[in-house]
Amino acid sequence: MITGLTCSCGTIAGADDWACPRRDDDDGDHVLGLPLPEWSVDTSSCQPFVRYRRMLRSWAEAGEDSWFVDTVSRLDAAVAGVDGHGFEVTPCAEFSINYPVTGSTGAGDTSRRITVKNETSNVSGTHKARHTFGLMLHLLVRERRGGWGGKRSSRPRLAIASCGNAAVAAAVVAAAERWPITVFVPAEAEAATVARLRELDAVVEFCPRAGNGVGDPSYHKFRDAVRRGAVPFGCQGPDNGYTIDGGRTLGYELAEQAPGIDRVYIQVGGGALAASVAQGLAAAHIRAALMAVQAEGCAPLARAWERTIELGGLEEARRQRPTVMWPWTPTPISAATGILDDETYDWASVTEAMAATGGRPVVVPESLVTEVCDLARAATGINVSPTGSAGLAGLLSDNPPTTTTPAVIFTGAQQ
Ligand SMILES: [Zn+2]
Repeated sequence: MITGLTCSCGTIAGADDWACPRRDDDDGDHVLGLPLPEWSVDTSSCQPFVRYRRMLRSWAEAGEDSWFVDTVSRLDAAVAGVDGHGFEVTPCAEFSINYPVTGSTGAGDTSRRITVKNETSNVSGTHKARHTFGLMLHLLVRERRGGWGGKRSSRPRLAIASCGNAAVAAAVVAAAERWPITVFVPAEAEAATVARLRELDAVVEFCPRAGNGVGDPSYHKFRDAVRRGAVPFGCQGPDNGYTIDGGRTLGYELAEQAPGIDRVYIQVGGGALAASVAQGLAAAHIRAALMAVQAEGCAPLARAWERTIELGGLEEARRQRPTVMWPWTPTPISAATGILDDETYDWASVTEAMAATGGRPVVVPESLVTEVCDLARAATGINVSPTGSAGLAGLLSDNPPTTTTPAVIFTGAQQ
């Protein structure tokens, strides 16, 4: 018997729901929660969805280990056919990074040891494909148990709203399974991204910002498509609570590779990356402070953190979502273009994880975003983008004592 997930509002969703059925009923925050699994690793595999499969909800729902492993292997091979390679545990290493420490008494550089997990070589160049591969496994499990008649020809369309990396990650995984997908992008989407999406057979819909409209127009059009029956195939918890399932594999890897870290600085756009990593570490009982990094040109999570404190805690904040999380104005801007979400959709999970681990938000001055990206590329040799190194910018801006053992995640290769 497959049961649905429980929403943060208390509603138990149906087994076939992707999101809370009551999400439009009131002003509350609605995100389906995936329970934390028992820590369990199959060390014989370096394919994350095999290695950590016993912690995946899709595995539990599949109910048959051999079918699941075969399905992961087949889908992974198909992803490799589309993107050049499949999923493997990504590298993680310690680097010495020199940076002038603000307010330090001595002149010159200060060197720190920083754990860097490198997702830039992952499928599609970011961690985002972990979310969409995880969702595809859920779709295949549901099809197997008779969803949409269990027929390939009746598959519902996939839909995602994204300005770049998540869209490509979704389109790569959809193309691997030849599952039809529509991508809603802003009018200013980069031509190279749009060309890649079309190459992957995605239908691309441009969504220009209306003159006085607040919020992300691509997101509004995506919500309309989902109301008409499309499957939310993105990286935002409120739209699809199951997206965290695959995302957590990144946290599981970090937990195994760097068990001694005491804090992790993670760039936050929609918030699913931070929520996934925090939950992955929590499953391994690693208590690293979650430091959520945003650029000064778009910091709705830092604002929500303050509002949550004013309201007396997360329980009340969740009940009054519009007074805690609302679209950032004016139009968000930063060189870290991948974290310019108008809203931090997963603000509540990230806030909960920050509070539980002794972390907090860090807002980075824009000048540091590009400066630290150059520094990161030179110090590590990794082809990371300003979005991908924004967590490191947060760390260096926050300047914790050099005795701490911080980690960052580079995700998003420089094009
Ligand atoms: Zn709900």
